[in-house]
Amino acid sequence: MLRINNIKLSPDATFEELYLAAAKVIKVKPEDFKSFSIYKRSIDSRDKNDVKLIYTVDIQVDADESRILKRSDKRRVTKSETYEYQPVENKRKSKFRPVIVGFGPAGMFCALLLSRAGLKPFVIERGNDVDTRTKDVHNFWETRKLNTESNVQFGEGGAGTFSDGKLTTGIKDPKQKKVFTEFVYFGAPEEILYSNYPHVGTDKLVHIVKNIREEILSLGGEINFGCKLTDLIIANNYVHGITYEKNGKSFDFETDTVVLAIGHSARDTVEMLYEKGITMIQKPFSVGTRIEHPREYIDKLQYGKFAGHPALGAANYKMACHPEGGRGTYTFCMCPGGTVITASSEEGMLVINGMSKYARDEENSNSALLVGIEPEDFGNDHPLAGIELQRKIEEKAFRLGGKDYTAPAQTVKDFLNNVTSTKFGAVKPSCTTGATPSNIREILPKKVTDNIADALLKMDKMMAGFALPDALLTAPESRSSSPVRIIRDDVCQCYRIDNSLGGVYPCGEGAGYAGGIVSAGVDGIRIAEAILKDEH
Ligand SMILES: Cc1cc2nc3c(=O)[nH]c(=O)nc-3n(C[C@H](O)[C@H](O)[C@H](O)COP(=O)(O)OP(=O)(O)OC[C@H]3O[C@@H](n4cnc5c(N)ncnc54)[C@H](O)[C@@H]3O)c2cc1C
Repeated sequence: MLRINNIKLSPDATFEELYLAAAKVIKVKPEDFKSFSIYKRSIDSRDKNDVKLIYTVDIQVDADESRILKRSDKRRVTKSETYEYQPVENKRKSKFRPVIVGFGPAGMFCALLLSRAGLKPFVIERGNDVDTRTKDVHNFWETRKLNTESNVQFGEGGAGTFSDGKLTTGIKDPKQKKVFTEFVYFGAPEEILYSNYPHVGTDKLVHIVKNIREEILSLGGEINFGCKLTDLIIANNYVHGITYEKNGKSFDFETDTVVLAIGHSARDTVEMLYEKGITMIQKPFSVGTRIEHPREYIDKLQYGKFAGHPALGAANYKMACHPEGGRGTYTFCMCPGGTVITASSEEGMLVINGMSKYARDEENSNSALLVGIEPEDFGNDHPLAGIELQRKIEEKAFRLGGKDYTAPAQTVKDFLNNVTSTKFGAVKPSCTTGATPSNIREILPKKVTDNIADALLKMDKMMAGFALPDALLTAPESRSSSPVRIIRDDVCQCYRIDNSLGGVYPCGEGAGYAGGIVSAGVDGIRIAEAILKDEH
């Protein structure tokens, strides 16, 4: 199979034109193609008057491929290497069923692989199934009555269920391909396999999550919603079971294997694990704000006269800079044509994030604008100090917003002038619990707001018009990643008071080993493999 890189076409080009362009590069007649597939597609919008789609394609031809390779430009034509996931052999002898705590991407992929290996995992998830959870979330947004167990952070599908379903990742692990192919198998559009900025949207994610659940159940796995891990039963440095709570009652389940795939917001569970002596350390994270512009405005900034072209979709952006304040500041988790959402999971604390549907056709586009926070900013060296810092910010925001989960928001112009907004301008806030004109400098640490102010001006130079005076800053975005890492040993099990704690596997974002849906899924696979390799 041959791989042809860097085929540049206009967004108007048809599939046939792509086919012909590929044939031209390798000087082969299109009728000699035995197979043809898109490997990668990206958008080059550096020249707004000449936006291009850039393709890499894989082709099998009815001709001598080595001769084609020899006579072609080595930078453009290479031998195609495909990745195929190699399942790990099950060496486990234990008679116990593994327990997986948390049914987010990490827990789901771990449960899926263990189910396929015949281990019938016992999953507990504190939140509700995704349909009930969707009602819980909308009820919160409408009535401001927060369900602290079933919300944007907790429930079937995990934290990313109400998101853009963006599947971009910075990790290099080839197992990510496995995550993508499973997503497609369970109902995601095929384009996620080749798009440079793959996304599925919250609407499609919900169905994918249900399909994964059905396969696990069909293989004998069990998924128990509304069940919260409250204790680990430990003896002689080995786990012997778990205690969980359902409807106010406590239950024990005997096991020798527990996967902690609890996400970055299960603060009560992390506190319980800390009290049990599980070794954890502080971890840098980021805080900041959402910035919201009209979608059509961002589309024009990015795509010029091609804005709105169906082959391009709603425009994305990704920027990073090092402002005078010295902290890396970057845009994150952009939601083109999306909504700013309230993502609280604790009473009296306000958390902001973003989501979009697959169509990305809402009025505004939003993105997080984040500043790195280092352990030296946490205030003390307690392993859980980062959580306390997050809580302080979220409490302040709740109070400033009027104590009913209305979000404080400020125009970019007022933020840069450090004056409290008294009204919003042309950009209407999309926040799901409403927004009130405020001064968000009252919520976030000064280091953070100084860096954001400088970054806005720097980013305005990278993308002229980004610091639109009426653009809205809604805060706080405080849960971008976990402020804690649970240390793992070389077989992925955790430590307790200087010894390895047999059978307990920290996994995914909450344990500090992932940042996003794809990397959490990959870590779930990694932990499933570690369990299958363990011969005890
Ligand atoms: C609003 C929002 C939008 C996002 N958008 C994107 C995006 O577009 N793309 C992207 O890549 N990432 C996105 N993320 C981040 C992404 O969701 C996370 O990185 C990912 O979900 C982490 O997966 P995880 O399985 O490690 O943890 P989680 O998804 O957080 O799952 C952990 C699960 O464990 C459960 N749990 C916790 N404690 C217990 C307990 N004691 N007992 C039982 N169950 C428990 C929780 O209820 C939860 O369902 C977004 C996050 C949010 C909040």
